[in-house]
Amino acid sequence: MYTGVTPSKLPDKIPAAVDSSPHACFALTESLEICYCNSAWDQFAQENYAEPGALAASVLHKPFLQFVPEDLRLVYSDIFQRARTLGRMQSLDYECSSAEVFRVYRMQVYPLKPGCGFVVVNSLVIVQPHTRAVCEPDNACYRDNNGLIHMCANCRRTCRVSTPATWDWVPAYVAHPRRDVTHGVCPFCREYYYGAYLAPKKLTG
Ligand SMILES: [Zn+2]
Repeated sequence: MYTGVTPSKLPDKIPAAVDSSPHACFALTESLEICYCNSAWDQFAQENYAEPGALAASVLHKPFLQFVPEDLRLVYSDIFQRARTLGRMQSLDYECSSAEVFRVYRMQVYPLKPGCGFVVVNSLVIVQPHTRAVCEPDNACYRDNNGLIHMCANCRRTCRVSTPATWDWVPAYVAHPRRDVTHGVCPFCREYYYGAYLAPKKLTG
């Protein structure tokens, strides 16, 4: 049971279409609080996040941006701002790969009537085996002085501590949820996925 929708706040036809959609959809209030998840959401959450904290029951009534890595919060809030200001759908592709499979999803943000928030549709656009060179876990190479691994929030490549411009695909780090990870955005994703939103980052070291 996916509660949280206030019918008077969402146009009647939207919940029916969204509820039966095979794509993972959610709705946000104007202040970007999650107020609804459709029935496809939990399957998407289980496949992509492997954490119970991503299930509808856990995310409802929480601020959406709380679930967005810090480096990307400006990107996402800008997309909602654009959707509202322009009054039309805005779209952003993002990677959500597992250790085994390369996946790209398209997030489409539909503004509802002013004051009524947004509906967000996540649809799978690419799924294929990885073609990246595989690197093995290596503490000396990937762990910083605090023992943390620096992973791209989008592509999940891992940054080499000694050469921050180099990000490797280390599927062993991606295979299971971990607590010893901190997230950033790698130079490739910064330009390819978020170039319209993020300035290139100066690298040090
Ligand atoms: Zn990346």
